[in-house]
Amino acid sequence: MNTIKNKIVSIDIALIKFYGIPKRNERTPDAVTTLIGTILSQNTNDKNSYKAYLNLTKNYPNWETVADLPLSMIEMEIRTAGLTKQKAKAIKGALNGIKQEQNRISLDYLTEMDNKAAIKKLTAFDGVGVKTASCVLLFSLSRNVCPVDTHVNRTLNKIGVVTSSNPEKTFWTIFYDIPENTAHSFHTNLIRLGREFCRPSKLYCGNCPVRNICKFEDKTQNILEHRDNSFLLLDSL
Ligand code: SF4
Repeated sequence: MNTIKNKIVSIDIALIKFYGIPKRNERTPDAVTTLIGTILSQNTNDKNSYKAYLNLTKNYPNWETVADLPLSMIEMEIRTAGLTKQKAKAIKGALNGIKQEQNRISLDYLTEMDNKAAIKKLTAFDGVGVKTASCVLLFSLSRNVCPVDTHVNRTLNKIGVVTSSNPEKTFWTIFYDIPENTAHSFHTNLIRLGREFCRPSKLYCGNCPVRNICKFEDKTQNILEHRDNSFLLLDSL
C-alpha cells in the first residue's frame, strides 16, 4: 500500500472508532436531486441550504417544473441558502442543460460512465465544480470518490496526508488512493472533524480523535467541551 492510502486507512479507522460509521440516506437520492442539493449547499451551512431544498421540493412537484420557473422565483425559493442569484442561475442552467441533451431531466446516463468521465460531464455545466460533481458520484451513484470541501481540505493538510493549496488539488491527489468502500465514512467524518476539532478559527488538538496520527507541528492543548451537531444535508435528501 502506498503512503497516502496507508494514512487514509489509519484516519478512517480512528474516526470510525470515535464517530462511528456515518448513516447514509434511507433511499439513495437520484443524481439530479443531489446535484441541486449540492449547488444549494455551496458557501453556506447545511441547515440553511436544507431549508432552501425543502422550499423547492415542497412547492413544486418535480425538477421539470423548477426548470421552467423564472429565475426570480427560484431566487425567492432558495433565499435561505444565500448567493441566490448565482445558485438560481446554476440550478436553472443545469436543469435546462440536462433537458436539452436528454429530452427529460435525468442523469441516469452517468451510471454508464467511469468516475472521471462523469465528473467531466457534470463540470461542463456552469456553476458545477469538481466538489459538486464528486458529491453526485458519492451520494447518488455510490462511487468510491471523496468530495473535498474546505473542511476536508483543511484537515487533510493539517494531518499531513497532502500538501495542497486548494480543495480541487487535494481531490485529485487522493483520487486513486481511497481504499474500497471508504469514501463515504472518510468524507463525512472528516467534515465533522473539521467542524468540531480542527476548526479554521481554533484547533482543539487536546482531545482530537486523530491527534496521534496528525503531523501538524503546532498542536494546541485546547480541549473541546461541546460538540457540533452532525446534520449533513447530503445524507438527508
Ligand atoms: S490534532 Fe489538531 S491539527 Fe491535527 S487534526 Fe486534530 S485538531 Fe487538527
